[in-house]
Amino acid sequence: MKRLGSKDVRHHSQDRPKRFGPAFSRVVSAGCTIAIVIMITIFGSCSKTGRDSRSDTRPPILFFAIDGLEWNVVKPLLEKGKLPTIAGLMERGVFGYLESMIPTYSAVIWTSIATGKVPAKHGIKHFVYEVGKAKDGSKEFRYYTSGHRKTKALWNILSDHDQVVHCVGWWMTFPAEQINGVMVSQTNTTAALKKPQRALWKGLLLKGVEGQVHPAERQNRVMDILEDVDDSLDQITEDIFGRPPHPLTEFSRMMWDQTLWAFRADATYVRAARDILETGEPFDLFSIYVGGPDVAGHRFWRYAYPSEFDNPPDEDQIENFGEVINDHYIYVDRIIGEFMELAPDDATVIIASDHGMHSINNERVFRHTDNMIETNSAHHLDAPPGVFIAAGTGIQKPTETTPIDNLDLPTMNTVGGVMDILPTMLVLRDIPIGEDMDGTPMRGTIDLDLIKNTGIRYIPTHDTPEWLAGRHKRIREAVDQTERLEQLRSLGYIK
Ligand SMILES: [Zn+2]
Repeated sequence: MKRLGSKDVRHHSQDRPKRFGPAFSRVVSAGCTIAIVIMITIFGSCSKTGRDSRSDTRPPILFFAIDGLEWNVVKPLLEKGKLPTIAGLMERGVFGYLESMIPTYSAVIWTSIATGKVPAKHGIKHFVYEVGKAKDGSKEFRYYTSGHRKTKALWNILSDHDQVVHCVGWWMTFPAEQINGVMVSQTNTTAALKKPQRALWKGLLLKGVEGQVHPAERQNRVMDILEDVDDSLDQITEDIFGRPPHPLTEFSRMMWDQTLWAFRADATYVRAARDILETGEPFDLFSIYVGGPDVAGHRFWRYAYPSEFDNPPDEDQIENFGEVINDHYIYVDRIIGEFMELAPDDATVIIASDHGMHSINNERVFRHTDNMIETNSAHHLDAPPGVFIAAGTGIQKPTETTPIDNLDLPTMNTVGGVMDILPTMLVLRDIPIGEDMDGTPMRGTIDLDLIKNTGIRYIPTHDTPEWLAGRHKRIREAVDQTERLEQLRSLGYIK
């Protein structure tokens, strides 16, 4: 791993943008394309589910859902030319801050992103919900499942419009739903809650559990990929991060071990996703969730930005891990580039993070005996804004090109909020927006030519009475399935 030079050490608190208004307010900078007037044409109720012929000719969307991507990390990497794919997208498209929301729990926000709705409407209010008390009086929790979601997500809506949608690694997608495409779940296990150190770890695929992949006949193929990643994980991480040049301290070892599972999950989902794209079969929306930047940020901020801390790691450990966050961003950039190569040239590419990150626990002495919250050196509980970058068909082109190495983060535009992503993608896919959604399409992002004939279409809701009725049954089934998962674990079938 490369040594972190002193010039790389930045005080992020000084670079942070001004706080934005209330979490759900629409803040669009006056600096961005003031002259835009989008005619919102309400075409009234449109309940048809058949494929809209106009969609047939539209290039697909590649949607990269990157947890915790932070502009303050992106900027210096752009300046050094380390993120060529992201730089290319920014040069020909739209970018800015994406307003986050509170609580900044990944399970909650990513469901708001997928539904365009507030947690009270989509039903995923935390990672877990309480189910009662154990014999010793302690509270018992279970993970929410895909069955707990009370409203359609982007993969349901596109499927119901006969569009082909692939969804890989998203939060709260186990058990996998029947969609018009491939779904590879992120599977969270209730049993993991019994180990406090693992309580909020992101999920992965589990060996020996059905229902993690749709269509079901594809599951074995995906599990083979997981096996392969397990066999080659050391090589995978060495390719991304290099090899630590110095022996690890106990604390550094703990940080690495607590991050490795996220890299394992990302590598598995990336390979499963590439496997889908490599078929070359047409699709309308492809989405992949990558969790590593968030986890690496939580664990290694103090190594990357030691001057922000009263008790920085020693030089050896900084040489070991000072570049972990940067290296993972560079890996994400490479993956985005590779996937774009596998998609049509005119595809729409969207990158979004649910929130940014910044340092915490700046005065603490970090010890391996601390609890996990105290060992984190970055967090996002105050909802720092995330990253939004889009380019390609349907996205506005920049009127003037801002040199990438001249980005002024404190004055950069906010292009929308997390709940605006789904309405924006529905416009791009020529599907009406639900009036019951809390987000609105990002007007400074969408190319007006795309909607000049149709305007933006709305329907009261995508949640038909039949769909909602089927949902009650599904909640039961999904919960039953997690109970079964617990049994399997207790029997030693799942490690
Ligand atoms: Zn996080």
